Amino acid sequence: MKVTESIYVVASGKWGFGMTHELDCNVYLIDTGAGCILIDSGVGLDTDRMDAVIASHGFSLSDIAAVFLTHYHGDHACGAARIRAASGCAVYAPAAEAKAIEEGDEDATSIAISKGGLYPADFVYPKCPGVVGLDDGEEVTLGAVTLAAHMVPGHSLCDMVLHGTVDGRRCLFTGDSVFVCGQVLIQSLHDVSIHPYACAMGKLAALEVDALFPGHGVFCLEKGGVHVQTAAAKFASGLIPPQLYYFA
Ligand SMILES: [Zn+2]
Repeated sequence: MKVTESIYVVASGKWGFGMTHELDCNVYLIDTGAGCILIDSGVGLDTDRMDAVIASHGFSLSDIAAVFLTHYHGDHACGAARIRAASGCAVYAPAAEAKAIEEGDEDATSIAISKGGLYPADFVYPKCPGVVGLDDGEEVTLGAVTLAAHMVPGHSLCDMVLHGTVDGRRCLFTGDSVFVCGQVLIQSLHDVSIHPYACAMGKLAALEVDALFPGHGVFCLEKGGVHVQTAAAKFASGLIPPQLYYFA
């Protein structure tokens, strides 16, 4: 799905646009002019479907120069090892979660308790060595695109939100930190934290944002910052924002 001149949705499952494997998060491809960036990698199952979408837009896995993983949950991160093997791309992730992705740590990433439930009973979290951990405020430039990393602990140990201008729009790729209408996704998992989440969302709300590209559900191209500010305001009032409606 072509979204802007340089941004495409190349995977999305049942909590989104229903384009590829049902467990895939929204995977965004950015054509930087010097290789492509993927934001998240999908779950890594039935990958022919994602590859076909990428090919339909005239790209292939070998064009991918960098994958940014917003967090270590399987639906976002488990496609990375295969993409890296096929392309030799760099893989970036929040520094606090990089080791678990490298080691395929099924306890840290909560895959172990999800098998036979959300995930297939025989699901395996692929090891992905060589992940580059990013800290708050770090920037990565590829071609015409610079993405700044913002750390948002809360939904998982430490999610990474990416902010940068693409095709003249200030874009925020939020993973599972915040969705349209200020929704969040708080699960009963060991690494969830509420107060740090609220503090980080307050900082995120100060960013200038036109387009909001979340890890599930719809995206929007204008006034994206309003959705972040809605979540931040709810947190600031001492309450918890509404749950992403697929999981409410
Ligand atoms: Zn998640």
